[in-house]
Amino acid sequence: MSDGLRRLEDRAALVTGAASGIGRATCERIAAEGARVACVDRDGDAAEALAKELVERGTDAIALACDVSSEDQVDRAVDAAVEHLGGLHILVNSAGILHFTHTHEETLERWNRILAVNLTGTFLVCRAALPHLQKDGGSIVNVSSTAALRAHAWAAAYSASKGGVQALTVELAIEYGRQGVRTNCVCPGGITTPMHDSFELPEGADPKLLQRIMPFDRMRGPEDCAGVIAFLASDDAAHVNGEFVRVDGAMCT
Ligand code: NAD
Repeated sequence: MSDGLRRLEDRAALVTGAASGIGRATCERIAAEGARVACVDRDGDAAEALAKELVERGTDAIALACDVSSEDQVDRAVDAAVEHLGGLHILVNSAGILHFTHTHEETLERWNRILAVNLTGTFLVCRAALPHLQKDGGSIVNVSSTAALRAHAWAAAYSASKGGVQALTVELAIEYGRQGVRTNCVCPGGITTPMHDSFELPEGADPKLLQRIMPFDRMRGPEDCAGVIAFLASDDAAHVNGEFVRVDGAMCT
């Protein structure tokens, strides 16, 4: 619920992972706050359906099918977004994948894929967007995870990728802060989305280890994360740069 807030009027935003979960809720929230939105996802049909809904609600929105691990697809999607929206002020990197397995059984192929989407994908979209974000000043919000803060068993590739996203976030904050581009990240935990609700533990996994990564109060929906992302994207967070904001119901406290 944006409660009538219109902090993002005249801003153009690109959101990856837009078709589902936190990315989708973010598109809805920032559109409600006045932003024009490019909905980027590898699932082009679902992104298209979301963009259509946003247009029906009066938002200038476009859907772009793109695998964020592909350099060519990312460069094309960012160019198309900038052309359609007339610039770029906000970037939210929410595209991500998760797989649980015993680390001694992890395949190099799956390790590489998780790193390629979660970390390299975030880098590729930031790289393509930064020249545009620097023109009028901008805000990047990366979606990391509590997995970068508190050890998750059976998620070595995922945790490493999200730790990388945090390191990339502070690196960009320092490198581009003086050029008017702030970079922050959220660290969600316990947000009910298709990713969260469909994960499977590997055979023999001890469920007691899962208690370490349960929220202290209760599970929350993706809109609770989207509100924090909208704040970080807005001028209300003008002096917030290089920050990690946990959205985890005190899981990591
Ligand atoms: P989700 O599965 O609902 O949404 C992920 C979206 O990313 C999907 O629309 C999917 O199609 C898209 N995507 C996946 N690979 C892609 C690729 N290569 N290129 C483009 N799009 C791609 O999951 P979610 O829970 O909304 O996750 C969003 C982000 O939040 C992820 O980065 C995830 O790691 C992070 N996260 C979620 C939680 C949680 O509790 N749900 C916790 C910590 C971190």
